[in-house]
Amino acid sequence: MKITYSIIAPIYNEKENLPELQRRVSAVMDSTNESWELILVDDGSTDGSTEIIRELAKQDDRIRPVIFARNFGHQVAVTAGLDYSRGDAVVIIDADLQDPPELILELAQKWKEGNEVVFAVRAEREGESWFKLWTASLFYRIIYRITDVKIPLDTGDFRLMDRKVVNVMNQMRERHRFLRGMSAWVGFKQVGVEYKRAARVAGETKYPFKKMFRLAINAVTGFSYFPLQVATYFGFASAGFAILVIPIVIYLRITGSQAFFGQASTLIAVLFLGGVQLISLGVLGEYIGRLYDEAKGRPLYIVREAPEDQ
Ligand code: UDP
Ligand code: MG
Repeated sequence: MKITYSIIAPIYNEKENLPELQRRVSAVMDSTNESWELILVDDGSTDGSTEIIRELAKQDDRIRPVIFARNFGHQVAVTAGLDYSRGDAVVIIDADLQDPPELILELAQKWKEGNEVVFAVRAEREGESWFKLWTASLFYRIIYRITDVKIPLDTGDFRLMDRKVVNVMNQMRERHRFLRGMSAWVGFKQVGVEYKRAARVAGETKYPFKKMFRLAINAVTGFSYFPLQVATYFGFASAGFAILVIPIVIYLRITGSQAFFGQASTLIAVLFLGGVQLISLGVLGEYIGRLYDEAKGRPLYIVREAPEDQ
């Protein structure tokens, strides 16, 4: 059977949101009069979401469950959804309904006009703490500046991608994934649609600060060598500074000044450079760790139950 739309929702403990998600997505997709599937990727939920997903799939064979053996993280869950998707257009959506399913119609419209990636830009966000808003805004702007790929600002994973794009993305098996970067990197015809990001329908965010921070590091290391280059810049700057200071110190010595003689100035210089070196080592470590992870070549995720019609 030919399928036009695949909707992918990653699920990590979203028991309260699942029925509403199924209801709203079905209503919107039925209104298109085209064939669709909803892929629910259970990312190791422990709250009973798994049973609800199985139940929903039993009632409607357009709902296809992919159940992981454990929690692999949001980006990997979406990746599994992309792997299993069969539609001509694939939509990624959050299960907490912060991304309104009704917007899919607008994304689809832009797709029909010939765009191959239609991403949803958050013009407004409801029900988020000032800390989340501020860190998110800072994050998008830093990424934009230091990466070589122009990743659209204020844009999450909520997007529609043409089959051509998904096929390319499915070949990119990198382990530390930043999907919005990857989907910008592939090129093709891209366009944004603005929307108002709603508050979560139920439950708490599954992205605590630690996970957000990891995502940010993955984004930076995945798309830029800038942190590695910073060590070089610092090296040149401090060596340049030292060369400048040598004649000054000689001059002061000759004229009998006591400047720069104390232990404090030595200590500060040692601590400062020691700090810079340790940070540089840490940055190197981040990249080497990622290299090691890639070298191991483990599967990206482990599926306990795949859809029956696979
Ligand atoms: N999610 C997931 N695995 C995780 C964390 C989150 O599949 O380890 C899912 C979660 O169920 C939701 C989506 O990713 O559907 C976005 O998560 P969340 O709403 O918690 O993030 P926020 O909107 O607060 O940034
Ligand atoms: Mg959310």
